[in-house]
Amino acid sequence: MDTATGLLVDLRQAPDSVRVLPRGRASGRYSCLACGRALELCGPRNHTDFTARFRHTRHEIDRCPAGPEHLARVRAAVADAWALAEHLAAAAPAVRIQAAVTATAEPEVMPVLALRLETSSGASVIHLPHGELSDHQVDRILAGGDTATRQWVLFDRHDGAHYRPAGQVRVRTRRQDQHIDKITPTSCQRRLAQAQVVVAWRDGGTLLLPFGGHPITYSPRAGEDWSGSAASWQRDWKTSQPRPADGAAWWGLLSLPLRALAAPALLGAAVTAMTDLEAAQSGREAYRRGKARERYAQQQTRLAPARPQQLALPLPADTAPSPDSTTSATDQVPQIAAQTPAAAGPAPGSGPAAAQESGPHRWRRWRRLLTRLRHR
Ligand SMILES: [Zn+2]
Repeated sequence: MDTATGLLVDLRQAPDSVRVLPRGRASGRYSCLACGRALELCGPRNHTDFTARFRHTRHEIDRCPAGPEHLARVRAAVADAWALAEHLAAAAPAVRIQAAVTATAEPEVMPVLALRLETSSGASVIHLPHGELSDHQVDRILAGGDTATRQWVLFDRHDGAHYRPAGQVRVRTRRQDQHIDKITPTSCQRRLAQAQVVVAWRDGGTLLLPFGGHPITYSPRAGEDWSGSAASWQRDWKTSQPRPADGAAWWGLLSLPLRALAAPALLGAAVTAMTDLEAAQSGREAYRRGKARERYAQQQTRLAPARPQQLALPLPADTAPSPDSTTSATDQVPQIAAQTPAAAGPAPGSGPAAAQESGPHRWRRWRRLLTRLRHR
């Protein structure tokens, strides 16, 4: 790694890249991606017979102190970054792509590689974590951003540390049923999503973009009955987008082609998909409220033969249901409100006596009762 530029110097991928670099230790400019130690760049600048190389020491045999397993993982991560770079370059040949390093290795923690993309519409950096991200590495990702550069953190769908499945959610959008994968985000993924970073996953040639899922309960309105079989319909969920909001119970993942990373115009499909989700949500609410109103109407029709005068005539004062008289207030209050359109006003038959009763007199009676109870 060239610490002066943050770029990955890979002699196998781009042997010519070292031509312009100063030889020797260059004041600690080069560091090993696996162990983090300073390296020395050896070899003449222009000599076709001699391959330039980086060395940890001047000993006969140069060895990286990192363990063989860690070294293998770092090599795999580098190969993976180049494979993604090739995929994106094939999809968008005009885009300039460089491999970089966001955060170097820490003991037991993999370095974070990145791809820097320059397109005609702007620059972006795609950070590629492998395995767990340390807090320090998250700090590095967040510190490295500027407002002009779009920052991505691209997790791997097949890395157990990055992807915690949480079932699926079924949504009907544009008259088609969709099954969307849900995940439980890690605390680090939540933290990144709250910052100005786009958190995403890749799965082969697919890019997965998250939206937030929030459980909600529809508050009953006048003329709705959510009891019985309708009770489960009262519970639903809503989205938060374009990025999951803080407090989302789960994240859903929308699919786009992976090349959208290099072709921002393709990201428009995600905006459409998220708008569709919101439309589906309003549709669900309207449909379910309609069902709750139907249920309420059926209930009323069933009650009608027993008390027919209730529908046609105002109730006499002595039989008018009082809100205080029912214990299941949530069931009864909306029904009463629907029967009397002016529900906010005085109840039918409430004369001066009734008004008095609900005023300070009633409170005094309560106080007397409480005092009596205390003295018992
Ligand atoms: Zn090393």
